[in-house]
Amino acid sequence: GPIVVWLRDDLRLDDNPALAHAAETGRPVVPLYILDEESQGLRALGAAHKWWLHHSLEHFARSLRGKGTQLTLRRGKAKDHVLDVIEAVGATALFVNRRYEESARKIDNAIEKALRADVAVESFTANILHEPESVTTQSGGYYKVYTPFWKKVSQTEPRDPIDPPTGFSQPGTFPASDTLDDWDLLPTKPDWSGGIAKFWTPGEKAAQERLSHFCDALLEDYHNGRERPFADDTSRLSPYLRWGEISPYRAYHTASTYAGRRKTIPDEAIRTYKQELVWRDFNYHLLYHFGALGSDNFNDRFDGFSWKQSPKDLKAWQKGMTGYPIVDAGMRQLWQTGWMHNRVRMIVGSFLTKDLLIDWRRGEAWFWDTLVDGDIASNTAQWQWIGGSGADAQPFFRIFNPITQSERFDPDGRYIRQFVPELETLPNTAIHAPWEAGETVLKQAGIALGEDYPKPIVDHGDARSRALAAYEAIKG
Ligand code: FAD
Repeated sequence: GPIVVWLRDDLRLDDNPALAHAAETGRPVVPLYILDEESQGLRALGAAHKWWLHHSLEHFARSLRGKGTQLTLRRGKAKDHVLDVIEAVGATALFVNRRYEESARKIDNAIEKALRADVAVESFTANILHEPESVTTQSGGYYKVYTPFWKKVSQTEPRDPIDPPTGFSQPGTFPASDTLDDWDLLPTKPDWSGGIAKFWTPGEKAAQERLSHFCDALLEDYHNGRERPFADDTSRLSPYLRWGEISPYRAYHTASTYAGRRKTIPDEAIRTYKQELVWRDFNYHLLYHFGALGSDNFNDRFDGFSWKQSPKDLKAWQKGMTGYPIVDAGMRQLWQTGWMHNRVRMIVGSFLTKDLLIDWRRGEAWFWDTLVDGDIASNTAQWQWIGGSGADAQPFFRIFNPITQSERFDPDGRYIRQFVPELETLPNTAIHAPWEAGETVLKQAGIALGEDYPKPIVDHGDARSRALAAYEAIKG
C-alpha cells in the first residue's frame, strides 16, 4: 500500500531520508504537511516564521510536482490529519524524519500508538548530525559543556548525504488538501515583509546556491570572517537549516569536500565551520534532555534572580532606540531583515539581560517572533547562554561592554551606518558612543542627541555594577 511521508521541518528533496526511502520502495508516496496550531505544547510560529513557511512550502510543493507528486496541506491537530490521510489513501506505512522537542516527540508517539497494527512507522535521522542517545559521557549522562561534546562527536564522521529521489509513484487519488492561500500566513495591513523579501529567498534551490557561494568565496577566511558583522562573510544558512531546506549533512560534507580539494582553505576555517554546525547539534541535545529549555532556567539558581520589569526599556531595545549604536543597529537589522549577525546577537543579548536586567525569556520571545531562523533549540539555548542561566553559559559576571565590542568588531562603523543611518555623518571616533563626542563634533555632524537619536537609556558603568550586585544575591 501507499506510504504517507509526513514532513515537518525538513522541506527538501535532497538528503531527505524519509522521502528517499519511501521513493525507493517503488510504492505510491503521499507527502503531507500539517500546520498544527492545536496540539498541546507546540510553540506557535512567530510572524517572520510564517512569512518564511509560506514561501518555503510554495517552493517545496513545486519541487514535488516536478517529481510527479503532490504535497497535501492540512491545518489542525496533527493526530487527526495523519490518521485521516492514512485512512483516505489506504496507506500501510508512515515515514517521518525525527524531531527532538519534548512536545513534538509526545505527539509522534501518540500517533504511532493510535495507528492500526498494519501501518508500519519508520523514522530517520535527518536534521541533526548525531542522535542525542548516541552521544553520552563516560558515566552515561549527557554533555553539559560544549568542548568535550565537540571532542567526542568529532571522532565520528557524520554519514554521507542521500541523493534526492528521481521520482515518485502516485496513489490512485490524492487526499483532500488546503491551498496555501487558505492559511493566510503572509502579513497584510501592514505588510512589513518588504525588507525580509529583499534579503531572503526561501527554498531549497536558494539554500544550495548559498552553500556553493559560501564554499567558493567565504569558507577560506571563515574563521576571521565570522566576526565581521558589517560584511556578508558567514554562510547565512541558518534559516534554511531551521526549516530543513538544506540538510546539515549536506552543508558539512560539501564544505569538507571543498576544503579537501582547495589547498587555500586552512584547517582552521573548515574546523571552525564544523564546530558551529556542532553547536547546533549541542543545543538540540540539550533540548532533548532538558525539555523545559524554552521556559525554565537550566541552572535553577537563576530562579531567584531579580529580573526587572521595565516595559519602557524593553520597547526601546526592541525598536533599536537604546542610544547604544551597535545594539540599535543589531535590533534594526533583525526587524528589517529577519536575521542578525551572531556577534551582535551576543551583544544585544548581553545588553538586555545585564545592562537592562530584563529576563532572557523576553529577549527569546522577541527573537522568536522576528527571526526567520528562530529555532526552538538554538534560540532558547543561546539566550540562556548569554543570560547566564544556560548550560556551559557565558559566566554572568562577564558583561559585554557595548562600546568596546563596537570598536572591536565594527571599527569603521560600517554596520552601524547601514542600520542606524541617522548617525551616518559621525566620524569613526564618535560613532560608537555619540554621547561622549562633545558638542562640536555633534554639531558638525548635524546631530542633536535626544532628538535625532536617543541618549543612552542606561549608563553602562552603573548598569554593570547593578547587574553584578543582583548576581551576588543568587551566587550562594
Ligand atoms: P554561520 O557562521 O555560517 O554558522 C554556520 C551554522 O552553524 C549556522 O547556519 C547555524 O546553523 C550554526 N550555528 C552557528 N553559530 C551557532 C550557535 N551559536 N548556536 C547554534 N548554532 C549555530 N541560531 C539559529 O539558527 N536560530 C536561532 O534562533 C538562534 N538564536 C540565537 C540567539 C542568540 C541570543 C544568540 C547569541 C545566537 C543565536 N543563534 C541562533 C546562533 C547564531 O547566531 C546563528 O546560528 C548564526 O548567526 C546564523 O548565521 P549563519 O548561518 O551565517 O552562521
